[in-house]
Amino acid sequence: MYFVGVDIGGTGIQAGIVNENGEILFRKECKTNSLDGFENVMNDIEYLVRGLLKENNLDMRDIKSIGFGVPGFINKQGMATAVNLGWEDVNFIESLKNRFNEVDVYAENDATVAALAEAKSGSMKGKNCAVMYTLGTGVGGGIIINGKAFSGAHGMGSELGHVIIGENYFDCNCGNNGCLETFCSATAIIKYAQRLIKEGRASIILDMVNGNLEDINAKIVFDAYRENDEVAVETINRFKLYLSKAIANIVNTLDPDIISLGGGVSRASDIILSGLKELVREQLVFKNNEFADIVCANLGADAGIIGAAFLS
Ligand SMILES: [Zn+2]
Repeated sequence: MYFVGVDIGGTGIQAGIVNENGEILFRKECKTNSLDGFENVMNDIEYLVRGLLKENNLDMRDIKSIGFGVPGFINKQGMATAVNLGWEDVNFIESLKNRFNEVDVYAENDATVAALAEAKSGSMKGKNCAVMYTLGTGVGGGIIINGKAFSGAHGMGSELGHVIIGENYFDCNCGNNGCLETFCSATAIIKYAQRLIKEGRASIILDMVNGNLEDINAKIVFDAYRENDEVAVETINRFKLYLSKAIANIVNTLDPDIISLGGGVSRASDIILSGLKELVREQLVFKNNEFADIVCANLGADAGIIGAAFLS
């Protein structure tokens, strides 16, 4: 028996046939033509999945279920809202059921899906209570309890990027102030480094972007950190301090077995993980007890397909 996982992104849609061990056997992708509207994107998804099966001499009888990861929010009634796709309360699950009536279909937020993948076959494999932060352009999160994605009573939970951990100098895209996303995303790192440089602080970052502040990216800031650049050190230390606050909150709330950090920012895992556990410990209620391991994700972009395939 196989599973199909579909990772719907802002620019592309990736589908894969996954076996019970979480290995992607076959894959196929298409563009996300979100400007063509919801129904056309759904048509593309159906064409993609059926094409993937056909190309590999499989049909729906070989498939146990199809799971979908969506860059947005899906409520318990199956209505999806995804700003990047232009979806507002669209009837996603019903549309999927109409198109794939031969099998069970499931869908979840993409960060939750990535967490499920890491818990099933990646960095958090075999752990009962596992939490993942996806540190990218924004910050996403997923909570896995007893092997299942947990999103609360109404489907609104595990929005770990929007826990409020302090006052910040700019508002979050969600409209609130102080969300983790505004301290610990790539965007937050870039903005803070730009701010310090605009204040007149000397930094090698300015040379690295030939004087063009708009060209700063998170990797450049991490590279400058390795050179002991003051602006980079202050920016990354601030990032780690707020990340440690969020992690201390989740340890105090859930006491998970393991916490995994994924997303583009986590590529600098050596810098991020160094000393992070000690920072977290200082902010715990039970400072002397063992608490969650903190690791980096290891499935990369495949987590979107693998986790979607494991939804049930
Ligand atoms: Zn927010």
